[in-house]
Amino acid sequence: MQDILSAILAGAPGEELAALPVPESYRAAYVKRDEMGMFEGLESDDKDPRTSLHVGEVATPDLAPDEACIAVMASAINFNTVWTSIFEPLPTFGFLDRLGREGVWGARHALDYHVVGSDASAVVLRVGSAVRNWKPGDKVTVHCNYVDDQSPTAHDDSILADNQRIWGFETNFGGLADLSVVKANQLMPKPTHLSWEEAAVNALCNSTSYRMLVSKNGAPITQGDKVLVWGASGGLGAYAVQYCLNGGATPVGVVSSQSKVDLLHELGVEAVIDRKVAGYKFWKDEFHQDESEWRRLGKDIRGLVGDDVDIVFEHPGRQTMGASVFAAKRGGTIVTCAATSGYMIEYDNRHLWMKLKTIKGSHFANYREAWDANQLVCEGKIIPPLSAVHTLEHVGEAAYQVHKNLHEGKIGVLCLAPEEGLGIDDHELRAKVGEDRLTLFRRHGA
Ligand code: NAP
Repeated sequence: MQDILSAILAGAPGEELAALPVPESYRAAYVKRDEMGMFEGLESDDKDPRTSLHVGEVATPDLAPDEACIAVMASAINFNTVWTSIFEPLPTFGFLDRLGREGVWGARHALDYHVVGSDASAVVLRVGSAVRNWKPGDKVTVHCNYVDDQSPTAHDDSILADNQRIWGFETNFGGLADLSVVKANQLMPKPTHLSWEEAAVNALCNSTSYRMLVSKNGAPITQGDKVLVWGASGGLGAYAVQYCLNGGATPVGVVSSQSKVDLLHELGVEAVIDRKVAGYKFWKDEFHQDESEWRRLGKDIRGLVGDDVDIVFEHPGRQTMGASVFAAKRGGTIVTCAATSGYMIEYDNRHLWMKLKTIKGSHFANYREAWDANQLVCEGKIIPPLSAVHTLEHVGEAAYQVHKNLHEGKIGVLCLAPEEGLGIDDHELRAKVGEDRLTLFRRHGA
């Protein structure tokens, strides 16, 4: 692996990389099948990724004809790695076993360890015999929509494919590792003005927010829209507010600390609510919500932007969904992709039907959406909200930070990249986008 890394750092051409042997094993972060009961009886909050995530050598899988073997320079923590590492809502080994029953290449995935991670910036080392558009030496980022393109169901909107999966969550050989194998149709060009770790954090959350707020498949914003964004400085929210600003909409960001309020102001988000200061108590107890608290949120929003919101960008789930359905304006849309605080949702249906609101489900993005979202990063129109960087050895701590909501934006993880700041090719574009802007979250997170 050292030879591969030295060649990459020296800028070796693709032919040279292609001539270097791919090692038979590699360093990776994984959870173990025989430990999936380790947190039984504990509350979610007390389940600690630092005890379940291991870093060690695993065998390099064979390469399928439609795949690329990549040297991972950096990766990122996503909430799905938190879910895998606390074995909630289900252990992910069930996903691997199901994939394992899908033919000879699928069988590689059903192992007693699950290599996690759904983001990467990387260099292509090998491509399978059916790969046409990529070659050794290409610098890439990886999106996580893992789709069998021989299924007819994958050929309208591939996220609707009946065997669609998320790489590194519902498949093995994820990105928190020094090597990975991915489908060629997961690859996208690496933004040339970003370091490896800046480039690594975007694909999953950026593409998800793009589909939710820009794509026709989500709840696309139009100029003048007002958009309530929960967790507005978090992984998804940090992209959502940028899409609002770029698209002429007005984001109303909700966060939980003054430092996050300051960060959003610096990013250009004027209307921000600190939910800790506001002290909303949407739930009176475990079973009953408090409509007067929903009204208070609505009043606070109108106080900031003069109107109700056209769109609510939802992902906290049980704790906020009742308030979100209430807060959307007549005819508005609540677009949701998650339920961090609980997936059994309750809202007052009268507010939905009488005011003709829509709840729209959304999940990651298809290749085209991920590609277009990546292009905006490549052009410097979307900045990476990288706030902290950990080494792969400390992946457990990095996942713990996200689990405990101690972070802002995205946490990057150095895999093969020996230090931060490497991999920047286009210094002119970087200067044009602005060093201050590109490092905004990093400065706040430091
Ligand atoms: P994140 O970086 O942890 O950000 C989420 C933010 O939500 C937190 O920073 C927090 O912000 C806010 N939040 C958390 N609990 C809340 C609550 N009870 N009430 C109000 N706000 C709350 O996570 P993320 O990457 O944005 O992901 C968020 C969720 O979306 C996760 O469940 C993840 O699995 C899911 N997700 C789904 C997809 C998909 O394709 N379906 C893609 C990406 C992520 P404040 O404390 O500052 O308010």
